[in-house]
Amino acid sequence: MLSEAADRMRKFGLDALPVVEDNETVGTVTDHAIARAVAAGMNPRTTPVKYALTRDTAQDSQGKRVGETARIVEDHQCKENLMKARVTEDCISCGRCVEICPEVFEMGEDRAFVKVSEIPEPYQDAAQEAADECPTSAIIIER
Ligand code: SF4
Repeated sequence: MLSEAADRMRKFGLDALPVVEDNETVGTVTDHAIARAVAAGMNPRTTPVKYALTRDTAQDSQGKRVGETARIVEDHQCKENLMKARVTEDCISCGRCVEICPEVFEMGEDRAFVKVSEIPEPYQDAAQEAADECPTSAIIIER
């Protein structure tokens, strides 16, 4: 769970931990990714680490030690897939974006709005889909 990963990072003074499945490192989880997941409404005590997992460039395929992996993650954090979104005045309150990605979009009185400052990686595809499906192109995705 995310809370256990956060506890271990605190205990060992790390900003990231490798995530291992079947004796293979499949990615890393960072303190920033956990914070974003919590900000998006995930419960850290019940949400598995995979929802804040960063795969790809930070993957420890060469058996690097935890500290080295954490350093790599820090190096890559500025390149991490950051995504933001906003809803323009063209919104007609159809609610489609909330149906597709309720973790990111919510209906307000006049129009939909984005309820997170940065969209956590697990929800980025759904947020992009919501933008693509918006009938008035009112959702602006910023990377
Ligand atoms: S899909 Fe577009 S028009 Fe519909 S509520 Fe969302 S932002 Fe507004």
